[in-house]
Amino acid sequence: MEDCLFCKIVRGEIPATKIHEDEDTLVFLDIHPAAPVHLLVVPKQHIGSLSEVDASHQQLLGKMLWLAPRLAASQGCTDGFRTIINTGRVGGQEVFHLHLHVIGGKDRLPAMV
Ligand code: 5GP
Repeated sequence: MEDCLFCKIVRGEIPATKIHEDEDTLVFLDIHPAAPVHLLVVPKQHIGSLSEVDASHQQLLGKMLWLAPRLAASQGCTDGFRTIINTGRVGGQEVFHLHLHVIGGKDRLPAMV
């Protein structure tokens, strides 16, 4: 997608601090971290939100979740972390390119629900 912020990061047109890259995903630091560790796991292909996935995305979604504990551990989150996917207006999504937040590095994150 031409004007999508995360597509621009995937293409290298906007800088980001990359933590991991493979053929399907790019992982980089959130520019406004909510905790000492705050990663964004982003599919390289443009998918607007979790509401837009279909059956062909099952393997990709599995990979994003599979990556999360490994990335968290690589950043020192050995005692837990939080994953979040904000979806749509009601879900508070601000960037409309699917992404998984991986948040940790605090002794205990505040309860959300
Ligand atoms: P959302 O609310 O859509 O789930 O989260 C979007 C996230 O993207 C926010 O946590 C925000 O800080 C992050 N973000 C927005 N713009 C940029 C950017 O230009 N670079 C990086 N690395 N993160 C960004």
